[in-house]
Amino acid sequence: MTHVKTALIVGGGIGGMSAAITLRNLGIQVTLIDLDPQWRVYGAGITITGPTLRAFKALGILSEVITHAYTGSGIQVCDVNGKPLHVVPTPVIADEDVPGSGGIMRPFLHQLLSKRTLQLGADVRLGITVNTITHADDAVEVVFSDGSSGRYDLLVGADGVFSRIRDLLFPTAPKPVYTGQCVWRIVAPRPPMIDRRHFFLGGPCKAGLTPVSKDQMYMFLLETTPKRGILSDNELVTELRRLMEIYGGILSDIRNSLGPASQIVLRPLEGFLLPRPWQKGRCILIGDAAHPTTPQLASGAGLAVEDALVLAAELAKSSTLEEALAGFMSRRYERCRLVVENSLEIGRREQMRAPIDAQTNLVEHSLQALAQPI
Ligand SMILES: Cc1cc2nc3c(=O)[nH]c(=O)nc-3n(C[C@H](O)[C@H](O)[C@H](O)COP(=O)(O)OP(=O)(O)OC[C@H]3O[C@@H](n4cnc5c(N)ncnc54)[C@H](O)[C@@H]3O)c2cc1C
Repeated sequence: MTHVKTALIVGGGIGGMSAAITLRNLGIQVTLIDLDPQWRVYGAGITITGPTLRAFKALGILSEVITHAYTGSGIQVCDVNGKPLHVVPTPVIADEDVPGSGGIMRPFLHQLLSKRTLQLGADVRLGITVNTITHADDAVEVVFSDGSSGRYDLLVGADGVFSRIRDLLFPTAPKPVYTGQCVWRIVAPRPPMIDRRHFFLGGPCKAGLTPVSKDQMYMFLLETTPKRGILSDNELVTELRRLMEIYGGILSDIRNSLGPASQIVLRPLEGFLLPRPWQKGRCILIGDAAHPTTPQLASGAGLAVEDALVLAAELAKSSTLEEALAGFMSRRYERCRLVVENSLEIGRREQMRAPIDAQTNLVEHSLQALAQPI
């Protein structure tokens, strides 16, 4: 592979750091920039699927995830009082020794990926973004927000759902759209009985629990509502308590534990699929910059890591960058479309309070499809 020697990755989130790792593994000289001078990540948990664990394995971080985060199998579906109804199986991935599902704290995943990114020698520059992109025949030329500039063989836009690189490359592209749901999340101590993912269905909201470590889990609650603005800490506690009023069992324990010290994270859900192509000249979009998904299939992080793996695989086997980016698109579009569209559809079913089976069947079928090789 001689056609790409230098790459600029814009965005040091899950996708950008994964790309830094896979491109450094090919010997490409990588510069990674992030707008956040502290390169922080907010402290919520995320759910990971079998395919995400397969991608972690390919990236070289699976054993640390298994040791320090949480892995299990299946999703226990319960009613609003915590009465078990049935288990949605999580498919076993053929020829891969990976668990069916799991959970991890975002800061821990960030720590694993950033450590590996730095160890592999990526040049990480923080507190800057890209002001302009100029497409030359033999390079992409970039002017950064601090006035410096650079020339690269490849630019990877991994700057998330509100991507600036997407706006620069495709100014008329669709923008993320609010889906009608906000998600509330909080980390809580994990009792031993919560040993796998749980959904609590049949109420006005969809609620769930995911273990993220030996002694921690996170709760999510999807509320159907006009888009919410920023709430004060007191308002967050009062509103979440109100939304959780009808729940019994373990969710009522979590509700009763809410107080001024609770770290509640509230986010509106936005999603859309960028129409093909995601590449222009020597630039390509990956992760949420191209396919920001709502979390119903818990696959956004996994897709971002897979993008990085497939990009490197295509670069390694192609004789031109154009061929590699075309190969990337043909392998990624349908899989990402499935996640974005099915997640939006599950969200619609949640909002119209469709029967429990109608919600969980689509989760099950989608997880089976995602277990196929990438
Ligand atoms: C509420 C919620 C819950 C979710 N739950 C799950 C889950 O359970 N499981 C799962 O798999 N996925 C989940 N996701 C999706 C997952 O978080 C994303 O798909 C994943 O983070 C995408 O990674 P990314 O690297 O593309 O973007 P991000 O992780 O958003 O990273 C983007 C990076 O780019 C940087 N940046 C932004 N703008 C610029 C700029 N102009 N210049 C330079 N840098 C910039 C940011 O600082 C950030 O570091 C959830 C998403 C949401 C919103």
